[in-house]
Amino acid sequence: MSFFHNTRCRICRENKGSRFCLRVGKDICWHDCNLIRIDEKCSENCRYSLKHSSEKGGIFILKTNADSQLEYRDLLRRQMDKWVISVQPVFSGKIPLEMAAGDQGRKELTDFFNSFDIPAIIPLEYLKKRLDLERLKIREREDLYEENAAHFLDLIITREWEKLIELLSDSEKYHDEIYRANFIKRYSQSRFMKKINEYELISSALSEPKDKALVYFEINRRYDLTILMEKVNQNWLIDSRIFGKPELVKGENETYQQVALLISQNELAAAEKLLEQYSGIYPDSSDLHYYAGLIHAFRKDKGKAEASFLTACELDPEFSDAKYNYALIKQSTGDINRAEVLYREILQNKPEEIKSMNNLAAIWLDKGQLQEARRLLEKIIKLDKDFAVAQQNLKRLEQLEIDKSR
Ligand SMILES: [Zn+2]
Repeated sequence: MSFFHNTRCRICRENKGSRFCLRVGKDICWHDCNLIRIDEKCSENCRYSLKHSSEKGGIFILKTNADSQLEYRDLLRRQMDKWVISVQPVFSGKIPLEMAAGDQGRKELTDFFNSFDIPAIIPLEYLKKRLDLERLKIREREDLYEENAAHFLDLIITREWEKLIELLSDSEKYHDEIYRANFIKRYSQSRFMKKINEYELISSALSEPKDKALVYFEINRRYDLTILMEKVNQNWLIDSRIFGKPELVKGENETYQQVALLISQNELAAAEKLLEQYSGIYPDSSDLHYYAGLIHAFRKDKGKAEASFLTACELDPEFSDAKYNYALIKQSTGDINRAEVLYREILQNKPEEIKSMNNLAAIWLDKGQLQEARRLLEKIIKLDKDFAVAQQNLKRLEQLEIDKSR
C-alpha cells in the first residue's frame, strides 16, 4: 500500500507526476507530456521526446516512448489534429481539413488510407470522425488489455460484483456456488475495493510471449493498484490484483516463503504480522491465505481457519494442501457431505494422496459403506503399509464387518 508519496503533476496539479520533464524542470503527468512534446521540440536526451518522422506524412509513426497504449493513442490523436491542418506533400500540398470539405477531397483521403494496412492500435476512428470520412475502413480492434482492466475497475466502482467474474481468466471455477459466494464476499467486504471511486491509468507492460500483461493504476489519486492480465483464447482477462506498484509482482513468491519459514520455526506472531502486511498487497495469493489458515488452525480458531482455507481453495481449486485442511475442518464440524466432496476432488487430481483417502474411508465407515471403505483402505496399505491411522481404520472396519455379520 502506498503512503502519501503523492507526487502530483506540477502543471495540472491533478494527475500523478509520473515523469520528470526536462523542459519544465518538474514532474509532470503523461497527459501534459503529450501536450508538450507534440511540437517535436523536446531535448533528445528525454526518452519521451518525439522525433520528427516524414514517413507517410508522419501520421502513423511515432518515434518516441509511451508508458501505455492509452498514452500512445492519445499522442497519436494529437498528432492527427496537427496533421489535418498542415500542408501535406503527399496530397500535392493540400491541407486535409480543407480537402475534407468536398466530396472529391474526402474520396482522395479515404482511398489513401484504405490502401494501407493500418495497425489496430492506431485510432483511425478518430480521423474518420474528424474528417467525416464515411467510407474509411476501420479494422476490427483487438481486445486491449488496458481497456479490459479499466472495465474491471468500472464494475468495482458501480459495485457490480457478479459481473466481475466474467472478466476473470479462470471464471469457470465459479460455477461452484460456494466459491462464487466467497468471491463476492471478498470483494464486497474489502475496504479498499469499496473505496475505489476513480482511477487513472499510469502505465502498462506486456510480457515477452505477449500472453501476460500488467496495468498500473492510481486509485482515488492516492493508492497504487496493479492488475495482472492473462490472454486466454484471444481475450485479455484478469488474473489477480496487487495493491501496490508493478515492481511488487516479482516479490510475491518470496513473501510466502518468508511466512512459511517463520511458521516452520513456530514463530507464529511474527508470521502473522508479516501475513497481515503481505495480504494487504497480495489479496489474491492462495498461498498467503493458506498460511493464514494454518496459523488460525494452530490457534484453534476454526471459524477463521475455515474462511482462510476456503479462500485459498477459491483462488486455486487445485491447491490440495489447502483443500485438505478445508475438508478436515468441514469433517470436524460435522459437515460430512461437504468434506466427502472435497476429499473426492483432491483424489481426482492426486489419486494417491493417502491422507485424503484415509479420511474419506473414515467417512464411509461412519456411513456404513463398508465395501467401498475396504477397497480404499487396502489401497492405502499397499501404498504405505506403515500408515498407522489407516491400520486403525482397517481394524475398525473388521470389527464393523463382524458386527454386521452377526
Ligand atoms: Zn498534468
